[in-house]
Amino acid sequence: MINVGVLGFGGLGQAAARLLEGKTEMRLVAAADQQGYAYHPEGLDVAACCGVYQNQGSLGHLPHYGVITPTSIADLIAQGGVDGYFLALPNLPNTFMASVAEQFMAAGWRGVLVDALKRTSAMEQLISMGDRLQAAGITYMTGCGATPGLLTAAAVIAAQSYAEIDHVKITFGVGIANWEAYRATIREDIAHMPGYSVEKAQAMSDAEVEALLNQMHGIITLENMEHADDLMLELAGVCSRDRVTVGGIVDTRNPKKPLSTNVQITGRTFEGKTSTHTFTLGDETSMAANVCGPAFGYLKAGINLHRRGTMGLFTAAEIMPQFVC
Ligand code: NAD
Repeated sequence: MINVGVLGFGGLGQAAARLLEGKTEMRLVAAADQQGYAYHPEGLDVAACCGVYQNQGSLGHLPHYGVITPTSIADLIAQGGVDGYFLALPNLPNTFMASVAEQFMAAGWRGVLVDALKRTSAMEQLISMGDRLQAAGITYMTGCGATPGLLTAAAVIAAQSYAEIDHVKITFGVGIANWEAYRATIREDIAHMPGYSVEKAQAMSDAEVEALLNQMHGIITLENMEHADDLMLELAGVCSRDRVTVGGIVDTRNPKKPLSTNVQITGRTFEGKTSTHTFTLGDETSMAANVCGPAFGYLKAGINLHRRGTMGLFTAAEIMPQFVC
């Protein structure tokens, strides 16, 4: 049994917890939000955790197992008893995820960490910490959501047919019923819009986000995003980062996807033929399913690496995720 923790209990964190309910190889023993945490070494009641978070604003209110604290991450790390954490945290500011990794190292914690980080510049910070993570006894899997993540890994597999890669084009469609279920995701998407930045999006109030979304009729259209798929594919030796493009459409008012999420890998075979492989996600699969599924698949792969003594930093483009039963 793999004892799992989830840091961040918003849209993705709660979806991750619900996904784990159906698994026999992993169980949720720890979860934290900004105001508190819940910890139970024999497994948390996921429905109770989601109910308390939604009705009272923090996991810290969970009877018997909840603790209200402004230092929830540090306090939860100190409890021990967790083999691996999924970091379903906002990366706001752009250095936040790296600072969380620092906290784990400073605490002397050993185990597996998985993130679903999106920005290239944020992943570069983690990559520069690789040697220190290794020395600390941490196996850190970065970029393990949908994009980066599932689609980046699919691009690596597709690239095997080619002698040279011309272009990797990722196009995503996301439909969510209301933006408040995924506040960090939407703020970070706004940060990619022309005229916006991470700092500007982080400083926006909920009312300002709401007003901006109203102006756009709930639709965010994104092109040429700063997405770490480029860096990951470059590091994996697939192609230089300037050959990778990422864009998409997010509908914040409708759970139906505005377009089918796909990755197209165009390359030239050893015989000189140019062709394109396309990997398209099923329209019925939600963002939560396509992020949390891979995150735990990479967590399982990370646990196996860690048990064999392999630590340090890995991206979703260099390790195969393992299916969690
Ligand atoms: P959210 O806003 O719904 O929830 C964030 C959670 O983090 C909340 O529970 C909040 O209390 C908690 N939190 C914030 N600061 C904290 C702190 N200092 N200590 C402890 N907890 C803290 O977020 P979301 O929409 O679920 O997104 C989470 C992340 O996932 C975002 O960074 C987003 O970009 C990323 N994401 C990645 C992909 C991908 O495919 N790679 C897709 C979607 C989202």
